[in-house]
Amino acid sequence: MSKYDVVIIGGGLGGLECGYTLAKNGLSVCILEKNPVLGGCLQTFKRRGVTFDTGFHYIGGLSEGQPLHRIFNYFNLLDLPWHKLDEEAFDDITINGETFHFANGHEQFAETLAEKFPNCANELKKYTAFLKNVGDNIFSSFEPRDHKEFFAESLFARSAYDFLNETISDSKLRDVLSGASLKMELNAEKLPLYTFAQINNSFIESAWRIKGGGHQISDSLAKSIEAFGGTIRTKANVTRLIEKDGLISAVEINGDEVIETKHVISNIHPANTMELVTESQALRKIYRNRINRLPNTYGMFTANISLKEDCVPYKNKNLYIYQKSGLWDISKYTTGQKAQCVLVSYQVPEDGKQFTRNIDLLTPMFWEEVEQWTESTVGRRGEAYEEFKKQKAEECIEIASKHIPELRGAIEHVYTSTPLSYRDYTGTKEGSAYGVQKDYSQLMTTLLSPKTPIQNLFLTGQSLNLHGILGVSMTSFFTCAEIIGMDKVALFLKE
Ligand SMILES: Cc1cc2nc3c(=O)[nH]c(=O)nc-3n(C[C@H](O)[C@H](O)[C@H](O)COP(=O)(O)OP(=O)(O)OC[C@H]3O[C@@H](n4cnc5c(N)ncnc54)[C@H](O)[C@@H]3O)c2cc1C
Repeated sequence: MSKYDVVIIGGGLGGLECGYTLAKNGLSVCILEKNPVLGGCLQTFKRRGVTFDTGFHYIGGLSEGQPLHRIFNYFNLLDLPWHKLDEEAFDDITINGETFHFANGHEQFAETLAEKFPNCANELKKYTAFLKNVGDNIFSSFEPRDHKEFFAESLFARSAYDFLNETISDSKLRDVLSGASLKMELNAEKLPLYTFAQINNSFIESAWRIKGGGHQISDSLAKSIEAFGGTIRTKANVTRLIEKDGLISAVEINGDEVIETKHVISNIHPANTMELVTESQALRKIYRNRINRLPNTYGMFTANISLKEDCVPYKNKNLYIYQKSGLWDISKYTTGQKAQCVLVSYQVPEDGKQFTRNIDLLTPMFWEEVEQWTESTVGRRGEAYEEFKKQKAEECIEIASKHIPELRGAIEHVYTSTPLSYRDYTGTKEGSAYGVQKDYSQLMTTLLSPKTPIQNLFLTGQSLNLHGILGVSMTSFFTCAEIIGMDKVALFLKE
């Protein structure tokens, strides 16, 4: 029976990045992924020659000198076909029919918006200076404790909504500045300032798509891990963690095979991790209950649309379209609600043409909206569900069509996914898009540490610190530091 230094549950970004760092540092690593393909939210699928992204669509801060550049340099991901979005407008925010441009660079960002909000020019400067400071200090977590506490933790304990109200006096501008935030759940009572500031800042630095689909990130990481001597297994559903003398001694796969290990990292939702530990001396009921009760962020509905050739001009930007103002109310679910907003993401044309073959429309979707079909499985959810998805896709197309007049006539096929799809493919609780919901006023319970009460079981992934590609990458270093020490992990900054 093989015995590894580290077994990693889940081959999403977090699991693969941990595997990369540990294998690079000489540890024997085995990554277990339940699906036939790796990647989790980085997965793509191909239909009739067109590639579609399922989760991840764009990243920020990848230009030289910016945080993700340094991180992706370490992970050897810089050579992938990254495609920079328009610097003068990487995101267009449309609220009530009025459009505002988000420009790259802190000064340009403030100046562009100040043209529409001249009375708020100084406030915009202060706002962007604050965001820049948060971004510039992202690696302070690798420095001595005092600084780290001052920076990340103090901002996690502040309300993003209150910060906006204190900094920006114009309510319309507050909405605009929140306009690219479908990348997080805009919850006035909960969203920590750190999440809001770090994510928005990274895109102000620079914004990038990947030509050909997000799976190239997981493929590249997997290739590197195997080159370092690591093992990766797909169709390996972890069904149990076996505890002996208070430590996890082995991992059970697909209900029968057992692999021995010294350490385990779980890249899956923390509540699912707890369910895998069926018998434990070390895991108290109080910890399990705490993890199980953590609320999750909302899910996403996606309509992946393939388009007829030469019909819809490619836009090198994202469109965030809101039907009405009051963006911070979007996280409040009301029964039978219609889609109120849509993020339009264009696929970079692979043939270099000026027209795109695929756009994705994304809108938040709550678990309550699909709860009646929770007992069903992929492809067997029944007619009512198919009708519900068709209706939701139509609502999204209706919103997007007002801004892309060619869209309706160009549609070839529409493929849809809901939080149920995520629950069944990536295993995320309630199909949540961004994992555990952090709450600035309940930091002790919602901001999870990689450590668990079982000394050799660690957590990683989007439910811990910050979600998204930047956040999951940062968290992977904190998790690895628990096994090989922060000194070794921090060395990556110097490479
Ligand atoms: C619709 C959507 C759009 C997004 N857009 C962006 C974006 O544009 N930019 C950005 O930065 N971020 C975006 N994100 C967020 C980002 O994609 C995620 O934060 C990140 O990819 C999560 O990575 P992860 O490793 O934590 O989890 P996951 O990707 O969920 O990986 C977990 C893995 O574990 C596997 N697994 C689960 N249970 C088991 C088991 N028992 N045994 C073995 N394997 C198991 C799953 O199959 C999966 O592969 C988006 C997310 C969504 C949902």
